[in-house]
Amino acid sequence: KGPDPDLVAIAERMATVKHKILILSGKGGVGKSTFSAQLSFALAAMDFQVGLLDIDICGPSIPKMLNLEGQDIHQSNLGWSPVYVESNLGVMSIGFMLPDPNEAVIWRGPRKNGLIKQFLKDVYWGEIDFLVVDAPPGTSDEHISIVQFLQATGIDGAIVVTTPQEVSLIDVRKEVNFCKKVGVPVLGVVENMSGLCQALSDFRFMRATETGEQQDVTEKVIECMREKAPEMLDLIACCEVFDRSSGGAAKMCMEMAVPFLGKVPLDPQLCKAAEEGRSCFADQKCGGSASALKIIIEKL
Ligand code: ADP
Repeated sequence: KGPDPDLVAIAERMATVKHKILILSGKGGVGKSTFSAQLSFALAAMDFQVGLLDIDICGPSIPKMLNLEGQDIHQSNLGWSPVYVESNLGVMSIGFMLPDPNEAVIWRGPRKNGLIKQFLKDVYWGEIDFLVVDAPPGTSDEHISIVQFLQATGIDGAIVVTTPQEVSLIDVRKEVNFCKKVGVPVLGVVENMSGLCQALSDFRFMRATETGEQQDVTEKVIECMREKAPEMLDLIACCEVFDRSSGGAAKMCMEMAVPFLGKVPLDPQLCKAAEEGRSCFADQKCGGSASALKIIIEKL
């Protein structure tokens, strides 16, 4: 029996892709797609040629996070063309193929696998430095498929995104074990939503009244700061949000002998950048999260 022609076709396609990085998370909503999008923006800003492949078939959020909603995929004699944000940042997602973004994609495993195979076989990325693959949460059909389909060319590694709570970390351990089992190196774990950081001047200040209501005293506080200590208005205030008694992701990484890449705070400006589909790095106000992400990306 000869080699599987699909795997041969995938290996041929991937011959022009230097590095393949998988972005994983144990749970949904921890910021995996946000990290995938911002990592891709950052790599493109560093003048690398970047492809971002969204295989979160049931919940593709990449088109929105790169401000590409409503775009269509085009076909050329070389294959499917990614949708380009910039000349060195191409994106492929099932989100581009759905006539109605509100429509639920209810597919069984084989159909999902078929589409992933097609993405890998038919998308023409050209010569690129990085292919960032945004996977769905957990370890299901899509993960097994992508690892199996890329086995001939290999995956450089996986980055696992988590939040600090133990409930999220339990699932990260599964994710790390999955990588170990299938032979994908874990490049590291990112602890996202790690504390809340925002400019002090963007906070609302509330005071509980005698009747138990919350009274907004923001204007008074800001006026007072402006008069007495204007330098305070430039401060970024940070606080812990989730219970950290367990020691969080860093401790888990030590236990599992995988690198801890760093913490990214909950940052309303990062959320805004993601909602508007732009890079957070050019954003002056996006201080806390952008610098944390930069440090993490430089470590890779
Ligand atoms: P996942 O891909 O893990 O399901 P998303 O990347 O879609 O999660 O993130 C879920 C929501 O949280 C999005 O609205 C996103 O903008 C927001 N978000 C993610 N990380 C942060 C952060 N560090 N600060 C603020 N908002 C964030």
